Amino acid sequence: MMTYRAPVDDIAFALRNAAGLGPALADGLYGDLSDDVIQAVLEQAGKFATDVLAPLNTIGDRYGTPFKDGIVTTPPGWKEAYRAWAQAGWNGLAAPAQWGGQELPQAVNAACIEMWNSAAMAFGLGPVLTMAGVDALVTHGSDELKRTYLPKLVSGEWMGTMQLTEPQAGSDVGALRTKAERVADGSYRITGQKIFITYGEHDLTDNIIHLVLARLPDAPSGTKGISLFLVPKFLLNADGSPGQRNDARAHSIEHKLGIHASPTCTMVYGDRGGATGFLIGEENRGMACMFTMMNQARLSVALQGVAIAERATQQALAYARERRQGRADGASGSSPIIAHPDVKRMLLTMRALTRAARAISYATAVAIDRAQRSPDGAARRAAHERASLLTPIAKAFSTDIGNEVASLGVQVHGGMGYVEETGAAQHYRDARITPIYEGTNGIQAIDLVTRKLPLAGGGTVRAYMSEIRRTVDAVNATNDPDFGWTGVRLQDAVDSLQRATDWLLGGQHNDPDPALAGATPYLRLFALTAGGALLAEEALAARRLAGNGNDAAGRTAIARFFAENLAVQASGLERTVVEGADSVNRADAGLA
Ligand SMILES: Cc1cc2nc3c(=O)[nH]c(=O)nc-3n(C[C@H](O)[C@H](O)[C@H](O)COP(=O)(O)OP(=O)(O)OC[C@H]3O[C@@H](n4cnc5c(N)ncnc54)[C@H](O)[C@@H]3O)c2cc1C
Repeated sequence: MMTYRAPVDDIAFALRNAAGLGPALADGLYGDLSDDVIQAVLEQAGKFATDVLAPLNTIGDRYGTPFKDGIVTTPPGWKEAYRAWAQAGWNGLAAPAQWGGQELPQAVNAACIEMWNSAAMAFGLGPVLTMAGVDALVTHGSDELKRTYLPKLVSGEWMGTMQLTEPQAGSDVGALRTKAERVADGSYRITGQKIFITYGEHDLTDNIIHLVLARLPDAPSGTKGISLFLVPKFLLNADGSPGQRNDARAHSIEHKLGIHASPTCTMVYGDRGGATGFLIGEENRGMACMFTMMNQARLSVALQGVAIAERATQQALAYARERRQGRADGASGSSPIIAHPDVKRMLLTMRALTRAARAISYATAVAIDRAQRSPDGAARRAAHERASLLTPIAKAFSTDIGNEVASLGVQVHGGMGYVEETGAAQHYRDARITPIYEGTNGIQAIDLVTRKLPLAGGGTVRAYMSEIRRTVDAVNATNDPDFGWTGVRLQDAVDSLQRATDWLLGGQHNDPDPALAGATPYLRLFALTAGGALLAEEALAARRLAGNGNDAAGRTAIARFFAENLAVQASGLERTVVEGADSVNRADAGLA
């Protein structure tokens, strides 16, 4: 079975030349951090992912996480790998130095998150939630909570969970019912049930820090009445070590299509009168805290989409070079299937979509870095809005293409893809959760259309489209036949995006709002246009740097393939948004 090799050079290239890490370094955003240090970090991460984590992927899939008497056992080798990973400092890579982190760019952490998840997505998922929890605590926690919990969460000695979902409260978080009651000592008593909680119980760490959304007895209804609580599995002794067991336990775990080694738990609070919880932020302001966690987690899930797409692509390419079948046009004997144009098309689609999703996701991370680190307030705000605009696109597009690419990966393998032996099927199964959790992709599209497009009066999205137009001009200025129709097709795509955006922002539509029906095709239109432009940026950069092993020919070929074969869908998607969405709202008869 083909295993994973971290594509460190590709990752570094995308970070520097498409996502904007190069300009951010040049602007001094990261102080005296050098490109060499970043390269060394990426290489170390790639080595760990390739050598230590990747071999765990199949074991995790086959072994799962047996559940007995409230205890979850992780697969053989996972605990050792987790401890080695945490000890190497990977958990705190982007966390504040004050709490033991290394404060490296979020963009570098994003690249590492991709590698952990390519190697073993069920492994990578746990730390992603811990990191999101760290973010929420750093931003909203009291000094005492920070002092007590952050050092161990940053080091990875303890892991975190994120608990929103209840049976009646999925996409509609405001419907949650878990109760929190004030206790005289300032803590809170939590009772209720949560479902689908990732790593809600496991044996990787000595304590698990649950971040739980709950409702006070006198809270307003809906999302305005939600508060966030820190609920440790073990309450702490005076010296900070895990002591008495809190009244929180896993009741059962789910049997799932994929990510078998990531335990998904039903959690019960209050068998013995209620779990002790500590308020994070203010009462009834839990959604603000949760959004901090969710934005981080949404980008991480985007990276899972990229990760699974990368791994599936590597595997399909290796198989297509080996497997011989049929005779390609002009060949004398049997050909490796990669020689057949239809297989080549599948492989190119896989690679092009993967790189486009990677560039969009990394660009989101660089925007987050600028939002956190720019010296100037206006620049920070603009970057925050850029990150807010790109986050739902990164999440939904990367995870959708993660599924499409993993499915193509199975197809390239033929029957060998459908049987479990090659591992292609596992990628397909693992990928399927990513468009569902952290806000379904439908919810991401609605967020984009209803909340993100109106940012800065439409200025955020317009600024982004202007950047895409600059890329188009740069491609056209090369006058190079190797780019084929790239400039023309990207121009068409951004024109379509502009018209669809104007239409959505103009609000000429009426009741029922077709913007909600057209949100998903709009997000795809946006992503294909942005992705095409970022791949063109990669090609332009590779040509500028030609001769240094930057694969100018390969990157130009991928940019051209994307523009001529995928970005051309933009005009159809524009029609779907502007004209077709109305037919969705008027087609109830079609579902009768
Ligand atoms: C393996 C796994 C791990 C998970 N881990 C966690 C975790 O760690 N913590 C946690 O809190 N949760 C977790 N979840 C829960 C996950 O986030 C939810 O399943 C997800 O948010 C969707 O909610 P739901 O399942 O109730 O689906 P529903 O909300 O019922 O959605 C069903 C469908 O209806 C659509 N829909 C719903 N409302 C709307 C609307 N207003 N407009 C348009 N379309 C709509 C959705 O897009 C979806 O297609 C996990 C789930 C799984 C399966």
